[in-house]
Amino acid sequence: MKVLIIEDNQELARNIRDFLGREGYICASCETLEEAKEKLSLFKYDCILLDIGLPDGNGIGLLNLIRTEHKDSNVLIISAKNALDDKIIGLEKGADDYITKPFHLAELHARIRAVYRRKNLGGASIVEFNEISLNTDMFEARINGTLLDMTPKEFDLLLYFLVNKNRVLSRQAIAAHLWGDYTDNLANFDFVYQHVKNLRRKISSAGGMDYISTVYGLGYKFNSHKQE
Ligand code: CA
Repeated sequence: MKVLIIEDNQELARNIRDFLGREGYICASCETLEEAKEKLSLFKYDCILLDIGLPDGNGIGLLNLIRTEHKDSNVLIISAKNALDDKIIGLEKGADDYITKPFHLAELHARIRAVYRRKNLGGASIVEFNEISLNTDMFEARINGTLLDMTPKEFDLLLYFLVNKNRVLSRQAIAAHLWGDYTDNLANFDFVYQHVKNLRRKISSAGGMDYISTVYGLGYKFNSHKQE
């Protein structure tokens, strides 16, 4: 999952980045509204952590832009203590949740996951499709109950496919989702090909159907209607 941290308190931003990075998230951060707008014009994020008090204005001002151009992003407001108005206005303007400073990083992580589950997985921590079952709390994938031995990247890739069934996912989108923004600059995406190939092989050898197809010149697609 890709997270953008918009927070001008550098120590807090660094702590969040380190913590979420250890949990396998791809994090980018910026300190001002201006930098945030630039990042949002270039990249997509699964989750945006938005501080309210920024040096060049109120973070709430970004919510309109986020809700029109980044509908799929989850937004968590980071608000100062006793700033009830900010929270209410933020939620009214489309933020998904808020967390009040100071907070424990584990709580922030739990909120990020809860919002993601609510919005992307219909509230469940288990994502199931036919013989495939993913436990997003345990990061476990099973095929007909058999546990797959997979890397965190392969798990994320399979979840990404399941959340985007029947949509063509470009190699660029997959690379950015799994490795971060600056993979856009890489000349080739052979590593995406390798990961998709390994994932398909692992699913097949556990007895699963091969739902993932190559869309020539575009990328990959998880086909939910595939027949054997
Ligand atoms: Ca601040």
